[in-house]
Formats: sequence, structure tokens, C-alpha cells
Amino acid sequence: IIQVTDLKKNYGDLQVLKGITTQVAEREVVCVIGPSGSGKSTFLRCLNQLEASTSGRIVINGHDLNDPKVDINKVREDVGMVFQRFNLFPHKTVLENVMLAPVKVRKVPQEQARERGLALLNKVGLKDKADVYPDKLSGGQMQRVAIARALAMNPKVMLFDEPTSALDPELVGEVLAVMKDLAKEGMTMIVVTHEMGFAREVGDRVIFMDQGIIMAEGKPKGIFDDTQNERLRSFLGKVL
Ligand code: ATP
Ligand code: MG
Repeated sequence: IIQVTDLKKNYGDLQVLKGITTQVAEREVVCVIGPSGSGKSTFLRCLNQLEASTSGRIVINGHDLNDPKVDINKVREDVGMVFQRFNLFPHKTVLENVMLAPVKVRKVPQEQARERGLALLNKVGLKDKADVYPDKLSGGQMQRVAIARALAMNPKVMLFDEPTSALDPELVGEVLAVMKDLAKEGMTMIVVTHEMGFAREVGDRVIFMDQGIIMAEGKPKGIFDDTQNERLRSFLGKVL
């Protein structure tokens, strides 16, 4: 459902992505690991075109992002994204946050959006918080609302950029549990994460990025037990 070919991204003279080539199949869960500054976030941001790539080709759900005729807003509707910092609208209730994009962008009728919003909040375990404002939520709850909000647009693919790394340790599990359920239901996901347990257990494939390239890629078992790759071994030695 995603094909990336020789993707490069520069910021001025700084080469951040130096030729990324990979594919993601439908229903696949790909976890991306790697040191700070290796280009993981930039990679995700290129996928949903929050950043324009410098060169290379990205095809998402049949849309070639290089095609001048491609409607980038349509492509973005297929791609849900959850960031490290929950960026909920503070002056809207939890339910309003979840309903907003379907109503504004998709022109879904209010009542229908409300019903679906409540169903999604139920799915992430927060139906009882529908009418409260985000500042009354814990970080883990906010992040679960952010997931429900992304799901409200019925994306084909979900991108997660370190969704748990800003959370207190005791709140990490509830967010990972929601993500794990989503994976079980067959959602296609790319997850940048420092949670190696999650990558090992839930990931179908793990990509190790280092200095703007894919340094290693494979099944979790292969990656986590790979003692041949010096840089991978050194990285895992620091995080495990
Ligand atoms: P982390 O684990 O810390 O989130 P990362 O792997 O996500 O790191 P990126 O955020 O993709 O890394 O950043 C890769 C490199 O690109 C870094 O050197 C960063 O300073 C640089 N960079 C990122 N965004 C910009 C920008 N908007 N302008 C200039 N340089 C940037
Ligand atoms: Mg990052």
C-alpha cells in the first residue's frame, strides 16, 4: 500500500534522508527504530507530505506523490498521523475534537459524526470522557483521543511518531494497548518507537534507521538478535 523509492531529503546542505527504499504491505505493522537525528520523523513527515521530499518517489494507496495532478489533501485523508505531543484543540471537548475533521473535511452530517465519534472513543476506552475538555485528561488519555481523532477519517494507513515517548511510564501501556488492538484489526501502521517490546511483539517488520539510511530491516526476531551489524548492536545495547 506504500512504496518508497530512493527517497532523499535535504535541509539546505544537511542530507537527512539519503535514499530510503522500502514497501509496506496492506495490514502490515512496520516499526522504525534508530538513534536521535537519524531521520525517522523526517521520513514520516515526507510520507504525509508535511515535508516535501528532495527527490525520490512515494506511492501511497495508488497515489504517486510526484504526480502533479495528485490531490495531496485526498492523499492525506488516507494517512492518519499521531505525534509525540498530543495536539488536541484545547477549546473543544474530546468528542468535538474527534468529530471535527469528518464534519469539516468530509462533510459528514453532525449526528453521524457524533455516533461514529462515540464509537471510536469507546474503542479507545474513553467514552465517558466525551464531553470533557482536553486539559482534564492525562497524557495517556489525550494520546488515545488523538488516535481516535485520526481514525475518524477512516485512514488506510496510520503513522505514529513516538506516540508514547512524552508520557509518564505508567501511562505508556494504555496507549500501546490501543495500538496493539488496531494492529490486530488489520490496520496498516508505521510506528516510530523506542518501545522495543512493542516492536518485537507487534511489529511484522522492523526498520533500523541510522544517519539517513535504512541500515537494517527484517523480522523483529532477526533484527533484535542480529549481532553481526555493529551499529545496530551498539544502538540496541543502549536502549534495551
Ligand atoms: P528523534 O529520535 O530525536 O526524534 P529523528 O530520527 O526523528 O530523531 P529527525 O527529526 O528526522 O530525526 O531529524 C533528522 C535530522 O534533520 C536532524 O539532524 C535534525 O536536526 C534535522 N532536521 C529536522 N527537521 C529539520 C528542519 N525543519 N530544518 C532543518 N533541519 C531539520
Ligand atoms: Mg523524531
